[in-house]
Amino acid sequence: MSLTFDYLIVGAGFAGLASAERLCALGKRCLVVEKRTHLGGNAYDRYDDNGVLIHPYGPHYFRTNSPRIREYLSRFTEWHPVNYQILSHTEGRYWNFPINLNTFEQYLGRPSTGAEMEEWLATHRVQIERPANSEEVIISQVGWELYEMFFKGYTLKQWKRHPKDLDASVCGRIPIRTNRDNRYLQEEFQALPKGGYTPMFERMVGACGDRISILLNTDYRTVLPHVEYGHMIYTGPIDEFYDCRYGGLPYRSLRFEYESFSPEQLKDRESIAGKPGFWQPALQVNYPNDHDFTRIVEVKHATGQLCSNSTIVREFPEDYGPGKEPYYPVPAPDATAIYQRYKELADAEQGVSFIGRLATYRYYNMDQVVGMALAEVDRLHPSSTQKIPTSRQT
Ligand code: FAD
Ligand code: UDP
Repeated sequence: MSLTFDYLIVGAGFAGLASAERLCALGKRCLVVEKRTHLGGNAYDRYDDNGVLIHPYGPHYFRTNSPRIREYLSRFTEWHPVNYQILSHTEGRYWNFPINLNTFEQYLGRPSTGAEMEEWLATHRVQIERPANSEEVIISQVGWELYEMFFKGYTLKQWKRHPKDLDASVCGRIPIRTNRDNRYLQEEFQALPKGGYTPMFERMVGACGDRISILLNTDYRTVLPHVEYGHMIYTGPIDEFYDCRYGGLPYRSLRFEYESFSPEQLKDRESIAGKPGFWQPALQVNYPNDHDFTRIVEVKHATGQLCSNSTIVREFPEDYGPGKEPYYPVPAPDATAIYQRYKELADAEQGVSFIGRLATYRYYNMDQVVGMALAEVDRLHPSSTQKIPTSRQT
């Protein structure tokens, strides 16, 4: 391996691999250094011991409104369309979620209409012109009762903060509808890479040919004395890049507890799951008010995998600390104030780009991170901005 590269890329998640692929397409030589033992960052997927395709770092539901991002990724994967549907479980029963006309009917215990729901909301919502936090954004749409049923407890568990102390964008991610649309997400395009995320990442790397070198299981700091490079693309946590000199940024971490079921065990669950081969009635069930976990995910509902076993995962929110992953930046004014100090340092750097969820400390989805990587490569090489073909090429 040559020790001179055009780019040193820290992190092999969506941000790192999309930038590497674009830069290699421009003829640049890239070294990608990843401290985990695999590609894909948090979007990595794999088959567990029971042959079930799982998302080891939490469920990853791909969605986007951007034709550019969809077309770009379509070069490396076909898609398996999914209408991500979830349920909430509270007061001893399942509820349609996000809140919509079906939820409202469950609440009333009788059939209703969109007009009646609109009227009900108009008398229950709290008038707030510009919701400033996650409590206000929900009570201004549905009022106190539904906020307390579905949002307050979940948010306290997930973030260990009161919804009042989180930006409006956190709970504001969840749509509220007065029609019967049960989909969890709002974006136009909702699909998973057919065959999984990991093969898609492998194809991205394959497209780089011999211009890419990848070091897994390696902290980039250990290679710095041994390589020369023109520019660094950093996708790790921004506070770590600066040795936490202004103090560590707050993050939330998670613990995942897996449980696998054989076809015989799943037989006992058929009446609950509503169909054979599954443990629960939906891809994801949220538990806003009971248990220490926030949700149970049975990703086989979304992957469409034909497999007689199934695996569920319970997600337990945890404090971030040594040995834990920084899964979520905390969208809140106090955290943003610390981030701004790091961002000032980052903005003044000459040879380093900071992109991705951790390096920009933003609660970003996968498509937004890909968009950021494409934009950064355009910015670094403005004259060679490439037209992305719309047809799948690999
Ligand atoms: P990452 O995937 O975090 O990659 C950064 C990489 O850098 C990591 O692999 C890390 O190991 C590596 N790294 C860090 N420091 C170093 C170092 N010192 N040396 C070497 N390597 C280093 N998005 C969606 O669109 N839909 C979803 O449904 C969804 N669900 C999610 C569920 C959970 C539980 C979580 C945590 C996130 C979810 N996301 C979802 C967000 C999604 O994971 C991110 O948007 C995306 O993966 C971010 O990509 P990235 O490359 O910026 O970061
Ligand atoms: N949320 C909630 N109740 C729910 C689902 C979500 O209160 O049943 C809030 C909670 O604060 C959560 C945020 O909305 O962290 C965003 O939810 P999402 O499902 O998008 O979270 P992610 O998949 O990113 O963990």
